[in-house]
Amino acid sequence: MSLFNMFKKKPTTELTPPPQPLPQRNDDCWCGSGLKYKKCHADKDQQTLKAIRKQEEKAKAAMRRSPFR
Ligand SMILES: [Zn+2]
Repeated sequence: MSLFNMFKKKPTTELTPPPQPLPQRNDDCWCGSGLKYKKCHADKDQQTLKAIRKQEEKAKAAMRRSPFR
């Protein structure tokens, strides 16, 4: 496998971003569980968004370091 293919490949960890805009903490959760958002996906969403941002930064950094221009 060439380096180029590695960069093109999607990360194996699937991160599903929560739908935007996010609900208020006391609203029903977007996933349809019937729970309030703060009791359901609020914390998970924060972690997911953080992980996605991290992954994007990593990808950008890898692009900058890439010898392919
Ligand atoms: Zn939920």
